[in-house]
Amino acid sequence: MPETQQDKPPERESWKEQPPYRVHEVGNFDVKWKGKCHCGAVEYQLSRDKPLASKYCHCTTCQQLHGAPFQWAAIFHKTDINFPRGHHNLAWYDSANKSRTHHLPCKVQCVYCRTPIMDEGRNMILVFPTLIEGIHTREGREAFEVQSHMFYLQRVVDLRDGKPKFRGLSGGSERVDEETGEVVEGK
Ligand SMILES: [Zn+2]
Ligand SMILES: [Zn+2]
Repeated sequence: MPETQQDKPPERESWKEQPPYRVHEVGNFDVKWKGKCHCGAVEYQLSRDKPLASKYCHCTTCQQLHGAPFQWAAIFHKTDINFPRGHHNLAWYDSANKSRTHHLPCKVQCVYCRTPIMDEGRNMILVFPTLIEGIHTREGREAFEVQSHMFYLQRVVDLRDGKPKFRGLSGGSERVDEETGEVVEGK
C-alpha cells in the first residue's frame, strides 16, 4: 500500500513530551542530584546515585564545543533526568549537520547563557558534572569519578591518572598506553 498523508507522524513535536524532556510531577521523581546552568534559567534533577559511567572525551568536537581540553561526560538513561520546565530555555545543536534542529545525537545548551547542559544521544544522555550542586564535595567527586578516557589520540593534554585510555569509544576500541601515548599493539 502506498504511503498516504495519514501514515505520517503528526506535525506536533511529541519528543518534547518524552524523556528526557517529559516533566515529572513534584514528588514523582526521586531527586539525588541537582544541576543548573550559569544563569539559572535551566535547572535539572537526576534520580540516580551515580552515572552509569563517567568518562573524559578528548575528541576534537568536544574540544571545540566546550572550549576546553576535554569533555567530562556522565552517562545516564533519558528517564533519569527531569527538567522541571521541560524543553523551555533549551537550545539544540546537531554537530554532524551543523544544524540547530533537534536531530539526534545533539548538543543541548541553555538558550540564554549558552552553558552546555548535556549531549542527547539516541538512547542515552551525557551530562556534565561541573554543573551539579555538590560536585566539589568528596561525595560528589566519588560519585562522578571517571573510569576511562575516550579518543585519547586526539588529546591536547596528557593525563597520567592510571585510568584506561582508548583510541575511540571506551571498551570497543584499542587501548592507548598512558606513558608512550601510542596505541597498544595486539590488544
Ligand atoms: Zn543559562
Ligand atoms: Zn568527544
